[in-house]
Amino acid sequence: MPGLVESLARGPVVCAEGYLFECERRGYLQAGAFVPEVVLDHPNVVEELHREFVHAGSTVVEAFTYYGHREKLRVLGKEAILEPLNQQALSIAARVARETGTLLAGNLSNTNVYEPGPEAERVVRAVFDEQVRWAAEAGVDFVIAETFSWAGEALLALESIKAAGLPAVVTFAVHRDGLMRDGLSPQDACRQAEQAGADVVGLNCIRGPRTMLPLLPPIRAAVSCPVAALPVPYRTTQAEPTMQSLRDLARDGAQAFPVALDPFTCTRHELGDFAAAAYAAGVSYLGICCGAGPHHVRAVAEAVGLAPPASRYSPDMSKHSFLGTDPAITKSYQDYARNL
Ligand SMILES: [Zn+2]
Repeated sequence: MPGLVESLARGPVVCAEGYLFECERRGYLQAGAFVPEVVLDHPNVVEELHREFVHAGSTVVEAFTYYGHREKLRVLGKEAILEPLNQQALSIAARVARETGTLLAGNLSNTNVYEPGPEAERVVRAVFDEQVRWAAEAGVDFVIAETFSWAGEALLALESIKAAGLPAVVTFAVHRDGLMRDGLSPQDACRQAEQAGADVVGLNCIRGPRTMLPLLPPIRAAVSCPVAALPVPYRTTQAEPTMQSLRDLARDGAQAFPVALDPFTCTRHELGDFAAAAYAAGVSYLGICCGAGPHHVRAVAEAVGLAPPASRYSPDMSKHSFLGTDPAITKSYQDYARNL
């Protein structure tokens, strides 16, 4: 079974993310704190979602430990479930990865307590070290450190991962101003991460396909390692380049993030087009973050030449009763459909 680096040398890797949003939509996770207690409360839901994403084309099973770290659980007063939550998430993901022949990834995320300076660094380093230790014990193939708007915090996560001797994917979150919170450009942050030992660097979350794509060529040019791109599946624009900045005119301009983004959802075609364009630009680790559905994942996988099990059910409109072109379709129905 090839690891991450070998897999990327052979072809594209697809990683479905977005477990928080999908479990929330399904009614198993509370928006707000967004802590993945679902891995303990409803492990079957998480396992099934892993399987659906693999069926749809994900070649990575990412353990659902996003926001399952000590600082988040401290806010809920639930530090007691920290270790069981991480171990359970890893064991669910490991089972699916082993059974489906996909890569198993551990996960570190933004802690939301990081600030530059020794005090916060000490706290954050401890958060990452314990999560990496559990991931290593579970036998992960690599660890994803994701959604970092502080380059400095991402580098701490990377240090923890490298200290455990594991491959690392580091992806940055680029908010409205287009910069890391430390003031670095995304490409400079990626370059620093590569120099610090990251095996894959790039962007995830926050931006939709349209406003993430232009950020990728400068990253591709700045590094020599594989590049990652995992947008959110929302129709962000130049004026509203992030999912947090989207305003819904049908709701008096209310902020759509995080639970009313539905009207901005991209079609599968938009995600497929994004993946094809990013792949052509030299991005080989592709996926989707918050809001991803299996149909989006399949579109990304197919756009880079993969044929996941779900491709068996990809649309074939030739046999549609009204819109089809197959000779077996009733002609009067085809004619009727021209006016629909
Ligand atoms: Zn996300």
